[in-house]
Amino acid sequence: MKLAFFDNYKLGVVVGDKIVDVSAVTKGIKALGPQDVIRGVIEKWSSYKGKLAAAAKKGKGKPLAKVKLRPPLPKPENIICMAVNYMEDGTLPEPAPINAFMKSPSAVIGDGDTMVLPDMAASVFEGEAGNVKLTTNDDFARAEIVRYSALADVRTGNGFDVHAFADGDHVMLGGVRIPHSRGVTGHSDADVALHALVDAILGALADGDIGQHFPPSDPQWKGASSDRFLAFACERVRARGGMIANLDVTVVCEAPRVSPHRDAMRERIAAIAGISASRVAVKATTSEKLGFTGRGEGLVAMATATVRLPWSAP
Ligand SMILES: [Zn+2]
Repeated sequence: MKLAFFDNYKLGVVVGDKIVDVSAVTKGIKALGPQDVIRGVIEKWSSYKGKLAAAAKKGKGKPLAKVKLRPPLPKPENIICMAVNYMEDGTLPEPAPINAFMKSPSAVIGDGDTMVLPDMAASVFEGEAGNVKLTTNDDFARAEIVRYSALADVRTGNGFDVHAFADGDHVMLGGVRIPHSRGVTGHSDADVALHALVDAILGALADGDIGQHFPPSDPQWKGASSDRFLAFACERVRARGGMIANLDVTVVCEAPRVSPHRDAMRERIAAIAGISASRVAVKATTSEKLGFTGRGEGLVAMATATVRLPWSAP
């Protein structure tokens, strides 16, 4: 026999694909809610068993599809009444459910709480150990720890990029347009900072380099904004179920001055990567007038990325 509360907490017996209202049988039970009815029925199960079965036989059934079950359950075949308190490991103790309930009569049966009555076949669902009930703030804090400790495969990659100065009036750095007396050569928008970051992320994933994914020979990347390259690399991390822990880039040039734009660059990189700016570092230095950067012939960027992946990631 399967019981279910339906519509306004009427007690019903499930017969095939119908539910028969047997509330009348339990009228004598002093009840504030369904849990009192269940408790009353359990306490005198030997006498209720027959009465409920008789009422179910006599009564007219209402199609299950037309009633509002309480608690709401996804599929009629999953109804067990207020079924089972499962053990922590998901097994169904036999005949513990009823005993457990009787031992703690103060337990409240709420939506989704379940209990097995005698003579009742329990429906057992495929469960997932990680699918835990979250109710209190502590539960959420614990779930967060579990989630992030699952991303324990921490990987680091580095990236390096150079572009030469050319005629022009600005450079793109970290997705930010910086006015300058010179421009930069390159097939896309020649943003050294973003290009180095893309290679750092791809490096952490051991997933090739920027030139492999966006060949300079391909005309579609001519003048392209480098945002999309960074967004692409970040998406590769997410596609593996991972997250970016931090991005760190150093720009080397005599000019333009980077520091006035540092925070704008951090914000922009963070926005493209979909992470907090607190996880993005932008640093700048000169090469003390030495080498090609010292002579103002071009810009260099070096980057590091740390990503966290699940151990199961390839
Ligand atoms: Zn580049």
